[in-house]
Amino acid sequence: MAQGLDTEVQFLKGVGPRFAPGLAKLGLQTVQDVLWAIPRRYEDRRNIPPIAFARPGDWVTIIGTVSHMESRPLRGGMLLLKAYVRDSSGMIALTWFNQPWIQRTLEKYEGQVVAYGQVKDGNRYPEMASPEWETLGEGDDPEDFAKIVPVYPLKEGVTQKTMRKAARSAVRDFIDFVEDPLPQSLREREKIRGLRWCLKQIHEPDTEVDRLEARRRLVFEEFFYLQVGLAMRRAEVMESLGIAFPVDDLLAGRTIFDALPAVPTPPELGTKKRRASVVKPDLAPTHLFEEGERSRRDGEPLLAQVERMLPFTLTGAQQRVVHEIWDDMKAPHPMNRLLQGDVGSGKTAVAACAMLAAVRSGYQAALMAPTEILAEQHAVNLRQLFSKLDIEVELMVGKLTMVQKRRALERVRLGQAWIAVGTHALIQEGVEFRRLGLAVIDEQHRFGVLQRAALREKGMGQPDVLVMTATPIPRTLTMTVYGDLSSSIIDELPPGRKPIKTHWKSAAERKPVYASVRKLVEEGRQAYFVCPMVSESEKMLAQAAEDLYQHLSEEAFSGIPVGLLHGQMKSAEKELVMNQFRTGDLRILVATTVIEVGVDVPNASVMVIEDANRFGLAQLHQLRGRVGRGDQQSFCILIADVKSDEARTRMEVMVRTTDGFEISEEDLKLRGPGMITGTQQSGAADFRIADLLQDSRLLEVARQAAIRLIADDPSLSQPEHQGILEKVGEKRGQMAMVSIS
Ligand code: ADP
Ligand code: MG
Repeated sequence: MAQGLDTEVQFLKGVGPRFAPGLAKLGLQTVQDVLWAIPRRYEDRRNIPPIAFARPGDWVTIIGTVSHMESRPLRGGMLLLKAYVRDSSGMIALTWFNQPWIQRTLEKYEGQVVAYGQVKDGNRYPEMASPEWETLGEGDDPEDFAKIVPVYPLKEGVTQKTMRKAARSAVRDFIDFVEDPLPQSLREREKIRGLRWCLKQIHEPDTEVDRLEARRRLVFEEFFYLQVGLAMRRAEVMESLGIAFPVDDLLAGRTIFDALPAVPTPPELGTKKRRASVVKPDLAPTHLFEEGERSRRDGEPLLAQVERMLPFTLTGAQQRVVHEIWDDMKAPHPMNRLLQGDVGSGKTAVAACAMLAAVRSGYQAALMAPTEILAEQHAVNLRQLFSKLDIEVELMVGKLTMVQKRRALERVRLGQAWIAVGTHALIQEGVEFRRLGLAVIDEQHRFGVLQRAALREKGMGQPDVLVMTATPIPRTLTMTVYGDLSSSIIDELPPGRKPIKTHWKSAAERKPVYASVRKLVEEGRQAYFVCPMVSESEKMLAQAAEDLYQHLSEEAFSGIPVGLLHGQMKSAEKELVMNQFRTGDLRILVATTVIEVGVDVPNASVMVIEDANRFGLAQLHQLRGRVGRGDQQSFCILIADVKSDEARTRMEVMVRTTDGFEISEEDLKLRGPGMITGTQQSGAADFRIADLLQDSRLLEVARQAAIRLIADDPSLSQPEHQGILEKVGEKRGQMAMVSIS
């Protein structure tokens, strides 16, 4: 039989074989499980007024004797039972539905009962509906009932009573088996109590203050192991060997590669005859240098190249961030960096600077986007930039023909294309790079724990990795989901941007909204209409867009050229429509959320979002980011009839601010971390006890403590850190599983 904390729950007093199956349903097999089953909330039953002083609305405990009972059938076959309980001050009626056994118990009973519940008005006496209650036998202490009582999360077939009994016996008989993984020194420094005391207080708090102190420790601990795991991962990366890009040489104009070296032309591809042997071994490239054979020669300094590449000057924030990235690329360990910036803050230009440094060091760079549309958009943008420096950009997406795809693969494999742009398929389908030095991951809303792991495991060596997010992420999530990355933040928009004016209108105001949009369009502006998010299905969305298109082009905006864009259209059609909108031939574009990312038409300065209440905050912010890119005042109109407080808050936040950092924090408050990260991928943001919103300060504390610990004992080899090492191992095991699933 298992000993100590591994003892099966059936051996707990008050549980036994009878109740053990119920606890098993809750996932509680052992005493250890029970001790770590954290109450959902607590009832404070310590208020025991004389019955006459129990006021309607109050939650109170009353003690008295049963004076008499009434039971009567109600319509619908329900049975109503009232037990009148009195003390020396007054009388109250306890009421229950369909619980005849209570009557049978109380009928023969003459002693005291104790009951807890909310008082409400009754006919002659106040009432308490469906209270929790117990009989007080000889030797029973009412304080066992009238205390702070835990309320556990339950499933059908398990009662609070069973769960409380299990927890109480676990604490009473097994708490001494609990070992504290946190050493005394750490507990003293962080001012946290021992684990035994805390677990006892979690299940049986003496006071609210004690309970909070106990909770504080458990939350700290939960954050702490994660943060120690992340700090260890960071330390491992720092120790492992990556590429030390010679950025200083590049900056000084001691360019290593200022152009593509001559490359033997591969055999003409695409003819049926040759397809079988794409590259003959004797044509294998030898032009890319190996370590030690760099040909140093003077060339154009890196910043001059940047200036030639970009059609604008970098903002101060962009410059700072570019240098943070370059410094990191320079270091001998692999870069693992998160780049955050608001919509339109110019992350692409920053990524281009990073890629340029890689290319000029003789390495290839890859840019991965979450969708094909976005990959294409990036390819178009980057080609424009890099063509000025004669650097070739290859687009690799699924819609390529076999021949095109093969050619692209070869060019990347041979190192003829310095930059490859594609979807995540770039890393997942075993694309071979000649010499990949930098991978940029444009994540948009996705959280790429998975992709980042895949990238390293695909045998691509240790390229530097830069992860870009579409919109800012709440700080707490950055510290957890992205906690192993260093972070760069672009906190400034390019000059001349006018804050977008946002208005929220009801559906009933559509007509005047359309009229004013018409006026703006007639003055020469262009407008987007985003169709309602009717469903997740692309097909139904396309239908909704078509309906809106019909309506707008034939009625509200007849005589004005209106275009339609949705995900079900062929690529060529999409391109045609986008081009017509870009050139101004189309004045209005009706679209699904396909325009959410990447679309950049500066003359479009009006955005109307239909049924805006159906979109999440991050999405609304991203959509709104399509306007405000030119020099005129832009407008965003949210058409929404709200049915919930949450939707109302979302609209109000959008009207109040255009600051993506603020919006992301509001989003976290409204939706919680699980929804934002998509629980199936987050893992790291799933906490049992901690609440990222409520406990954000403690997260910071735990992070600092973790950093200090790893600085002091990087591999946790000191004996007093063994407990922590074990816990961190469990947590990292979970994290690894998350990225495989
Ligand atoms: P995001 O950060 O949302 O990806 P983009 O990289 O698409 O933003 O940039 C948004 C727009 O701002 C683009 O049209 C880009 O050309 C422009 N832009 C970026 N940086 C600057 C700058 N420093 N000065 C002027 N325009 C800029
Ligand atoms: Mg972008």
